[in-house]
Amino acid sequence: MPPKVVHHMNTAHPGMSANETKALLAANTEAVQLSNAAGAAYRAGRFEESIQLNREALKLKLKAYPEGSTQAAISINALGEALLAAGRLQEADQAFAKAIAVRERAGPGQDAAATRENIGALREAQGRFDEAREVRARGDTKSQILCGNENCPTNKMYALKGLQACGACKSVFYCTKECQKQDWSKRHKPLCKAHCAKAQTGNQPATP
Ligand SMILES: [Zn+2]
Ligand SMILES: [Zn+2]
Repeated sequence: MPPKVVHHMNTAHPGMSANETKALLAANTEAVQLSNAAGAAYRAGRFEESIQLNREALKLKLKAYPEGSTQAAISINALGEALLAAGRLQEADQAFAKAIAVRERAGPGQDAAATRENIGALREAQGRFDEAREVRARGDTKSQILCGNENCPTNKMYALKGLQACGACKSVFYCTKECQKQDWSKRHKPLCKAHCAKAQTGNQPATP
C-alpha cells in the first residue's frame, strides 16, 4: 500500500478557478465578521452567544486554512476564552490544547503567551494552582509572560522578574499593583480564596 498523503484541498492554491477563489474570499470575510461579533458578545458578557459565533467563524476559516494553522488557532483560542468564561471548563481545555500546540510551534510569541495565560486562568478555575503557575512561568526564558490582568493596559510581555506574583497563591503574575487589583475584583478573588482555604485545611494534621 502506498503511504497515505493528506492534502489540504480547501486551502487557496493557484489551480483554483475564479469562482472557487471568490467563494473562499467571501468565506474569509464572513469569518472575520463572525469573529468580531463573537468578540463583542464576549465583552458584553453574552458567553454562550460568543461560543456559537466563534464556532461558526472557525467552520468558515477551516475552509481556507488547515486546523493546525496560526489563522485557525486565533479562532480556536477565542472559542476557548468564551468556553472558559461560560464555565465549560472541559471544552475550554480541549480548545486551548489545540491552540497552544500551534502557537508554541508557529506564529507570534505574544499569541502563545496569551494562550498560556488563558490556560493559567483555566487551571485556577479547575483548582490546579501549581499547574497554573507552571504554564505561565513557561514563558520566562523568552520573556514572554503576559500580565494576569485580562485588561492590562501595557499589553507587553515580561520575564518573571519584571512581574509581581499574587502574594497568597503565587500562581498568577502582574505588571503593577493596579493590574493585580483589577484582576482580583474581576476574576481572581474567589478562586484564590477557595484555593488558599483548601490548602490550609490540607495542612492541618488528620484527626485520629
Ligand atoms: Zn498589567
Ligand atoms: Zn492568588
